[in-house]
Amino acid sequence: MEALLYKQKNLWDTLSDTEKAEITAYCEDYKVFLDRGKTERACVRYAIELAERAGFQEYNTNIDIKPGTKFYVNNRGMALYLAVIGKEPLSAGVNIAAAHIDSPKLDLKPLPLYEDSELAYFKTHYYGGLRKHQWVAIPLSLHGVVVTRDGETIEIAIGDDPADPCFTITDLLPHLSKDQNKKALSESFTGEGLNVLIGGEPIADGDKDRIKLNILRILQERYGITEEDFLSAELTFVPSYPARDVGLDRNFIGAYGQDDRACAYAALRALFEVGTPEKTAIVVLADKEETGSDGVSGMQSQAFEHFMEDICAAQDGKLTHCFANSFCLSMDITNGFDPNYPEVSEKRNNAKLNYGVSVLKYTGARGKGGTSDASAETVGKLRRVFDKAGVTWQMAELGKVDQGGGGTVAMHMARRNIDTIDAGLPLLSTHAPFEIAAKADCYMTYQAALAVFRGME
Ligand code: MN
Ligand code: MN
Repeated sequence: MEALLYKQKNLWDTLSDTEKAEITAYCEDYKVFLDRGKTERACVRYAIELAERAGFQEYNTNIDIKPGTKFYVNNRGMALYLAVIGKEPLSAGVNIAAAHIDSPKLDLKPLPLYEDSELAYFKTHYYGGLRKHQWVAIPLSLHGVVVTRDGETIEIAIGDDPADPCFTITDLLPHLSKDQNKKALSESFTGEGLNVLIGGEPIADGDKDRIKLNILRILQERYGITEEDFLSAELTFVPSYPARDVGLDRNFIGAYGQDDRACAYAALRALFEVGTPEKTAIVVLADKEETGSDGVSGMQSQAFEHFMEDICAAQDGKLTHCFANSFCLSMDITNGFDPNYPEVSEKRNNAKLNYGVSVLKYTGARGKGGTSDASAETVGKLRRVFDKAGVTWQMAELGKVDQGGGGTVAMHMARRNIDTIDAGLPLLSTHAPFEIAAKADCYMTYQAALAVFRGME
């Protein structure tokens, strides 16, 4: 009778010693990926470095689209498409693993620099769904590019190196927070209040805005830019600290940006190790997911079609046939059940840390709004592939019904007539500046992507 019951297993009860060692090694590499890729631009750069090391070349129309060919397309330095051509023609369909590499952050406003009470600040406009109170009183680093009037692109990265200075948004002292404490959390911290402290020393000459002028002098000296150059810049503040092991048993990784670089890295690693698959394997590292996948580097961009159409045409195949026969693993994190906040989850249907890759038939909010809701047939197919490959997985929902919700890139892939399902790993403190993932789940997510590339027919 026991066989009638569905039982989930903690990953650690199923792992061999070899697998345990592999998890540790995998996560050491993953932490480097997190540290090297704190913005979508940095992430694309590092992913290309890894891809080239793995034998991938930049796509051009002269490349022979034949089994085993490995290449990538860099979409404006903010999104990346990678492919390993399979033995079957592209018109037979491809297996796609799509993850996103943007994360909540504090972008600079177009005119960010000001001085108040002899302190200098940058004004920010937050990006993505962040809880503002989590971003004050922590060390921040500044990343991005400034494009000058003559078209030169200047890279800026200050604050990750412990020898660098860092930046911060100040918080109120408890001694004087009586009034603020009475406000709702959502109103205690405002978007216009997220101003980042960047300086306090005045320039010797001049009589007003001397701190601001000194900051401009430093920027001019170091980067050759003026205040006007901020108009054509993309600069952003992210947490300055590196990824760390968490727990006495080092069971977890704590880091900024694991949503969704945990899945991005899993997809990449799987692609690097797939060999020559039966069906072509594609990895998409998309930008702008946290703001709705709009924009030329987001998953709604036709850049993806154009790339796929090009390689289909090289084999005299049609893109529509390719998409109709394709499968997409929309790889994104979900919320892990958090015993500190049990009231937001329905325990029976919520993902648990250390229980493997979590599959979400649907995401969405208010009665599954904004989801692609994978069919039972699609779930069934994935279930067979995972079980055959020995992937430990769990079915999950994002929290209680009507508690909130969220979306992924899944619906944008489904709109292309591609069978799509969400899968990723559970996090704690999602979207916080220090997100928590279980190492075993990170590794199992990579195994899941590999299983799809190798086994999805
Ligand atoms: Mn995500
Ligand atoms: Mn997110």
